[in-house]
Amino acid sequence: MPLVTPSRFKIPSPLQRVSHLLFSEKGIDLYVKRDDLIHPDISGNKWRKLKYNIATAQHKGSDTLLTYGGAHSNHIAATAAAAAIHGMKSIGVIRAMDADLDNPTLSYARSKGMHIHRVSREEFKNVDTLDYLESMKSMFGRFYNIPQGGANYYGVQGCMEIMSEIDMEAERLFIGCGTGTTLSGLAIANRGLDLYGVSALKGGGFLRGEVEKNVDALFKDSETTSAQMEHVHLITDAHFGGYAKIKPELVAFIRNFYAETGIKLDPIYTGKAAFAMAEEAKKKKDEKPEAWILIHTGGLQGIPAMERKMGMALF
Ligand SMILES: *Cc1c(COP(=O)(O)O)cnc(C)c1O
Repeated sequence: MPLVTPSRFKIPSPLQRVSHLLFSEKGIDLYVKRDDLIHPDISGNKWRKLKYNIATAQHKGSDTLLTYGGAHSNHIAATAAAAAIHGMKSIGVIRAMDADLDNPTLSYARSKGMHIHRVSREEFKNVDTLDYLESMKSMFGRFYNIPQGGANYYGVQGCMEIMSEIDMEAERLFIGCGTGTTLSGLAIANRGLDLYGVSALKGGGFLRGEVEKNVDALFKDSETTSAQMEHVHLITDAHFGGYAKIKPELVAFIRNFYAETGIKLDPIYTGKAAFAMAEEAKKKKDEKPEAWILIHTGGLQGIPAMERKMGMALF
């Protein structure tokens, strides 16, 4: 079975130039790397992170993927869809005993054949341990294990390809961060762009160490590592109160971005990343022309659940 079905995966993803007043006033040419368009069911960086994991699982002769995530996790939805496309089975270990099996993410994952295994939040804290992996093996038999968020070496490897697809000169690049896996891939493959990682979570200070660890694991040379890390800037104050928290100002920004560019952003990751990018643009003092790139990491599958919570439509 081929690793990807080329007709259905839009790789390389389009690098789209957009016009937005806030940026053009500052002399900024804005581009959006449309990873949200890679596949209708496996959006954005989740495919990047799954690609080499699935290749490895297939190479090892495994027909089942097992992974972990929250009740609205983009990674869970993407893993279920990717497994189905590749003729594999999937198991999702979900944080919360009372997770609603009929919420948009889990009902979608189940429709793709994923077996949902709900565990308590307490138990979920241990999912990254070897003991936990053993307990999963005794429960489910043979499977290929993918950590939460696809945060492993193969995940980083897939994300490096985002950078190699960018065939233009630019000054800055903005990306939303959860585990920092995607930013790690970009930081490794980077050739001199200033990378801005915007934390979707409160307390995103850990991200720098996470990225640095991943960069150093590959280069094993402190000089190269620090040279690459000099181009990594973390923005940890654009989380709007925490993971999946929103405020009217963010909603207004996302609606305006859509009106200006025709591109929908999700409120959990890409909306916050773009908001922080706009704040950086406002700080730009000169009118020196610069090209900026926003990576649209996808995440649109999470919008219906968010709209339900907000009690109104986002777009
Ligand atoms: C998962 C996700 C991210 C975060 O990616 P990490 O590699 O975990 O930092 C960013 N944007 C979207 C839309 C996501 O679903």
